[in-house]
Amino acid sequence: MTSPQLALLPSVDGMLRHTRIEALLPEYGREQATAAIRQALDEIRRAESRLAVFSNRAGCMDYLANEAEKILRRKFAPSLRPVINLTGTILHTNLGRAVLPESAITAIASISRGACNLEYDLDAAGRGDRDSHVEALICELTGAEAATVVNNNAAAVLLVLNTFATGGEVIVSRGELVEIGGAFRIPDVMSRAGCTLREVGTTNRTHPRDFQNAIGPATRMIMKVHTSNFEIKGFTASVAEAELAKLARTAGIPFAVDLGSGSLVNLEDYGLPHEPTPRENLENGADLVTFSGDKILGGPQCGLIIGSKELVGKVRKNPLKRALRVGKLTLAALTEVLKLYLNPESLTERLPTLRMFTREPEELQALADRLLPSLRTHLGAAWQVEAIECRSQIGSGALPQDLLPSVAIAIHSSPGSNTGVQTLAEAFLKLPVPVIGRIKDDALLFDVRCLEDPEQFIKQLATLAFARA
Ligand SMILES: *Cc1c(COP(=O)(O)O)cnc(C)c1O
Repeated sequence: MTSPQLALLPSVDGMLRHTRIEALLPEYGREQATAAIRQALDEIRRAESRLAVFSNRAGCMDYLANEAEKILRRKFAPSLRPVINLTGTILHTNLGRAVLPESAITAIASISRGACNLEYDLDAAGRGDRDSHVEALICELTGAEAATVVNNNAAAVLLVLNTFATGGEVIVSRGELVEIGGAFRIPDVMSRAGCTLREVGTTNRTHPRDFQNAIGPATRMIMKVHTSNFEIKGFTASVAEAELAKLARTAGIPFAVDLGSGSLVNLEDYGLPHEPTPRENLENGADLVTFSGDKILGGPQCGLIIGSKELVGKVRKNPLKRALRVGKLTLAALTEVLKLYLNPESLTERLPTLRMFTREPEELQALADRLLPSLRTHLGAAWQVEAIECRSQIGSGALPQDLLPSVAIAIHSSPGSNTGVQTLAEAFLKLPVPVIGRIKDDALLFDVRCLEDPEQFIKQLATLAFARA
């Protein structure tokens, strides 16, 4: 503390009277401003040599005010931010999965503004059930007798297992013991639900007799898990749902299907590959079906459990349901999304997920052509920018093998340029609305399929902080 430079440092109180800091007080408050000033002072004390550039205290105070403001802005900036998903994976779990339709967004805003009848029956003027807001719609769209909604599909599976199989065995084919991204593994969920996994068959082939032989006094349920994120090809055999349903019925136990990504419409009607629907599972004899709300369905994060009145009623009575239930905002959004399915003709127009699935190659090509000139201008000669054919994925484990023809902007570094695409990818992440692509064969690829607002993309290119050649 002997340096004469340190004498330039102002007091915290002195800094609080600096005009720049005073202007920040209404927004951030005195407590946070004081903490930021202290931090700025600490930093400059630790890098004392930096004080040498100030010839007087006023200059030093301006610098500190600036630093304190930066600290405050950083601290108060939202961590959760919008990004532009050009990865080519439409339902990207790390990027928040399904994009909601406008009607769902409006409903969330309107319901969050005040009190609502979440568990209040306005007709009977008494206590109601939160499932009542969506149950009839889910039943109409799936053919189920009853439905309930929980936090996500993992919760739905956990709740079903815990309700019907605690202390007993659940029979699952070895070919279906899947791990879904983010450490959701069927065997682990089973043990946490308090039941024992009884694996039958082999990885590639499972026969009805495998199930038949495994059924015993300890058996509580037969479960089929949709192997949504991989496919076994070649010498394979699995047991049809109808057959499993029959075996379960004979044994007097429920047959549950964990569908994962349940589409409520036949995707073939939209020119897409077939994906099983919850209605098909029920028609095949499933007693319970669980699926995600934010995968192909295109809604908010939640898990749907559908089936008979009796079984869904038991699920609802499980005390764990209380821990896994959804909030009013989820129900508000889900209702609006489900309502769109009542009019399948306008679905591709109104439901962003299906709109992204079905965008025509010509539209995607036109979109890419629109971006090319601006990208070339802003990136300069160090980069080669072209539009190429690529394939998008539905994502979230759905239809992993079926890739949708799409168009990507491919950016390579020009011959002789020594900047790697990784550096370029990072520069795009630093844009006001970060742009996320993927790197493949030394090129940065931006699949345009999920680009909703090309003007927003183009406008912010001017701020791309990148050394140009
Ligand atoms: C995605 C998936 C899950 C998990 O669903 P979340 O909504 O992510 O919790 C479970 N089972 C299957 C088969 C899935 O595809």
